[in-house]
Amino acid sequence: MRFLLLAAALVTASPIAAQAQVTDLPPGDGMDIQSYRVEINPDFGAETLSVTAEITVTALRDGLDRLRFSPTAMVVTSAQSEGRAILHERTAQAHRFTLPRPLQRGETATVSIRYHGAPDKGVTFSRPVDAKRATHVFTDYDACSWLLCVQDAPGDKALADITLVIPADMTSLSIGNFQGRTALKQDPKNPRVRDHWRSAIPYSGYLMSFAAGKWVTVQSGDRLAFHGENYTRTNLSSLFGTTGDMLRFFEDKAGVPLPVERYHQLLIEGSAAQEAATYSTIGTEEIEPILTDPQEDWVIAHELAHIWWGNLVTCKNWDHFWLNEGITSFMVAAWKEHKFGSAAYDAELAHARKRVERVSKIGFDKPLAFAGPYPSLGTRRAVQYSKGALFMAHLRKKLGDKIFWSALKRYTRTFAGGTVDSQDFQRVFERESNVDLSDDFDRWVTGNNVANGAKPRKGTQI
Ligand SMILES: [Zn+2]
Repeated sequence: MRFLLLAAALVTASPIAAQAQVTDLPPGDGMDIQSYRVEINPDFGAETLSVTAEITVTALRDGLDRLRFSPTAMVVTSAQSEGRAILHERTAQAHRFTLPRPLQRGETATVSIRYHGAPDKGVTFSRPVDAKRATHVFTDYDACSWLLCVQDAPGDKALADITLVIPADMTSLSIGNFQGRTALKQDPKNPRVRDHWRSAIPYSGYLMSFAAGKWVTVQSGDRLAFHGENYTRTNLSSLFGTTGDMLRFFEDKAGVPLPVERYHQLLIEGSAAQEAATYSTIGTEEIEPILTDPQEDWVIAHELAHIWWGNLVTCKNWDHFWLNEGITSFMVAAWKEHKFGSAAYDAELAHARKRVERVSKIGFDKPLAFAGPYPSLGTRRAVQYSKGALFMAHLRKKLGDKIFWSALKRYTRTFAGGTVDSQDFQRVFERESNVDLSDDFDRWVTGNNVANGAKPRKGTQI
């Protein structure tokens, strides 16, 4: 035991040598994260975070002795479980914590961890020129660079309870519903508050999120709010004005109401278009075209549609990511048809077809559940987003509106709060339509026919 501890200490003390020696299991191995209870204290001067996290996990196999989370640049300063200190190591693959005793399958453990630092990605502080302190902070897709989670395990969903300690003149956003604000009394010159957020349903690690800043806020009706740093209330209202109609449209198509009391959209400078579990971060470059052409509203629709397709109903692993992005891209077209007419739907699909044709030309016409590597983000998007949308349009045409929309509703209701793969989707659509769709799924989704050497049938690839 002593020898093992010494060896482990070397892992932390000498990371380069250790990385060559230690072949660790991947982050998330053998565990299912149940919940996070996290307090985040952003330092707006140093642009760092101090975090305390209480993470509860269940063992998926007997003898689980270590918990592994995605690697981050954050520095762990203490780790405890069952009231005593536990070993933390930073291996090449993971942040690794050794439990006080191995767990049997189904057993649960809670670890309490303190860590701090500047995440190398996933968190952006923004600071006006010449200002001493940042005026706001927001997170993006790389959640596991600031939270000890597993970035590439969308199938592992967990409840989250997140508290943010921020200056009293800031507003915050995080997961689920706002639970309330309490004032901290230590420093009257620098008043700070504790904002508490909590999700009622579990979400995947990559959707964990927070933001805080000195924003202008518009509350729109009971269920919407828009925030932005350098915008007037009028700006925000005109940019996000159609969100209410979209919300009603998506709720109707999903058959599942908005799973939070209020949906927030945070406007930031630049080109962001990022869904968080229960709010969205939207860049000015993506949304401002709406001011000259109201049909340029894809970014609002896309990120809002993720509330159901992606966030509530989530792919089990990235091989089935088209179920997040293809359905969402299709729903943007469906929204446009609803709002602007069938020409807008056709235009959106034509745009998707063009992207698929472009990657076809370079020999990259892959099935939707293609599990191999993509040469670029563009090719991945052409397949999982654009071809995914075209497959949805194909099913709609084949099954007819009535059956197609009732199947989508059944799928969304059945799996809300859970995870899915392409087979789950196929089963629901077959059951609802009473049509054998195996040929369609072979051609579009699994590529089975193509893999067996058969030529793709003409006209079915896009
Ligand atoms: Zn998306």
